[in-house]
Amino acid sequence: MQIKWARRIEELPPYLFAEIDRKKNELIKKGVDVIDLGVGDPDIPTPKHIVESLREASRDPANHRYPSYVGMPSFREAAAEWYAQRFAVNLDPASQVVTLIGSKEGIAHAPLAFVDPGDIVLVPDPGYPVYPVSTTFAGGVPYPMPLLKERGFLPDFDSIPEQVAERAVMMFLNYPNNPTTALADEGFFREAVDFARKNGILICHDAAYTEIAFYGKKPLSFLEIPGAGDVAVEFHSLSKTFSMTGWRLAFAAGNERAIAGLGKIKTNIDSGVFQAVQVAGITALRESSEGLLQRKEIYRERLEIFCRGLEEAGIRYTRPEATFYVWFEVPEGMTSSEFSERMLAEAGVVVTPGNGFGDYGEGYARVSVTFDTHRIEQAAERIAKFRP
Ligand SMILES: *Cc1c(COP(=O)(O)O)cnc(C)c1O
Repeated sequence: MQIKWARRIEELPPYLFAEIDRKKNELIKKGVDVIDLGVGDPDIPTPKHIVESLREASRDPANHRYPSYVGMPSFREAAAEWYAQRFAVNLDPASQVVTLIGSKEGIAHAPLAFVDPGDIVLVPDPGYPVYPVSTTFAGGVPYPMPLLKERGFLPDFDSIPEQVAERAVMMFLNYPNNPTTALADEGFFREAVDFARKNGILICHDAAYTEIAFYGKKPLSFLEIPGAGDVAVEFHSLSKTFSMTGWRLAFAAGNERAIAGLGKIKTNIDSGVFQAVQVAGITALRESSEGLLQRKEIYRERLEIFCRGLEEAGIRYTRPEATFYVWFEVPEGMTSSEFSERMLAEAGVVVTPGNGFGDYGEGYARVSVTFDTHRIEQAAERIAKFRP
């Protein structure tokens, strides 16, 4: 017999990278040196003092038992202190912060807390695929907000039809943005607060990259905007900031009732984050600014190396001022998928086709520079020789 799959997984969009993965593995088998710049996962290890902190905390039997569902009070306090220092945003750690098993967990669970079947969720397109998928899992309907180059990759709230805005209960935003690398300014965030207030929409701001910015840029927290606390929660992750993707540690902060809603879902689905990991997270939040500067320098250098390769090939791109991605335009007359396939076949470089992030990603491609600098140099040399 064939086990029946629920419609929610049966109807998942096809995995766009499956074909590229297959071709990549074929080439590797043939002995081709493939450089895979697909996944955004820091190669720089977690700072030693954070690892040491885990080691110590893991020895304490008090940390071997079930953690609190919503996170250790001490971790939530450290998160609140960090917000106060970094953004001058004051949060009550007990009611306005909840620990997450990575921000992907919180983002994926958010629609279960706030979306009823048929409700609309506004999602950026291109965007992190978890936004529309988690919406669909909860029975909601994702409505794409195009991120266009001519608008600095910021959605245009005026172009959202009134009937859509009325049915919308939630909106995902993400700045600094993956995949476009765009930053949002205060004016845009203010518009978002007004739009949310007017239409009764909860804004879920994914702030995974606020600490990875260059050239003196200091990305904002959405919660810095007056009134944001009434309409928003922000997801912040230790993954990218502290090179801790494998640890699964993040938190959501902001509106009390929204935080309580997320907490209800978590209480009924998971049992929180290993306490020793939270203790290490406190160490990260309290004493890690120097390492961060060094890591950012490494990313900035790699981004510039890669962009020079694009320039030599005559490929258009927006200079990344944040994140560790380059979002660039595929040469005219080619689709994103065709370009990715040719990059792989002719240059042995894996790039992510932009349409993997939504229809409005068509015509673009993304690379991540979370790989050894020498490999980025090689990839840049190969792409520099690419002729459409
Ligand atoms: C990496 C990433 C995340 C997920 O981070 P985790 O905390 O490791 O789950 C969330 N959003 C975006 C846009 C990301 O790129």
